[in-house]
Amino acid sequence: MAECLFCAIVAGEIPATTVLETDRILAFRDISPQAPTHVLVIPKTHYPDVAALAAADAALLGEVIGAVQQVAAADAVAETGYRVVFNTGAGAGQIVPHVHAHLLGGRSLTWPPG
Ligand code: 5GP
Ligand code: ZN
Repeated sequence: MAECLFCAIVAGEIPATTVLETDRILAFRDISPQAPTHVLVIPKTHYPDVAALAAADAALLGEVIGAVQQVAAADAVAETGYRVVFNTGAGAGQIVPHVHAHLLGGRSLTWPPG
């Protein structure tokens, strides 16, 4: 069993509802969705956070964002609008230390709320 939760999902050791897969990217639905569309998009290779990914492989970060847009289109939220969040560091609420983009959509996401 992989030590990292998302590496274990990539390895197929923990099940996930996959919505998109390429040779380098996996996208799957968040187990605790905060919006009608809440998908996590990750590189299959382990990087601890988005800063490490950007420094090591900027093209792969671009692929992550491209996959976000593809999933947003497939879930019909690309036109209504969606949010992409990379929680970075414990103080920002990053729990899983494997870089992941949260794709949120399907409800109003205006900020500040109201
Ligand atoms: P973070 O707080 O690190 O930015 O986000 C981690 C996300 O992973 C959370 O939104 C949480 O609901 C999700 N998550 C945690 N464990 C699992 C799991 O086993 N499967 C899936 N699909 N999502 C998970
Ligand atoms: Zn990992």
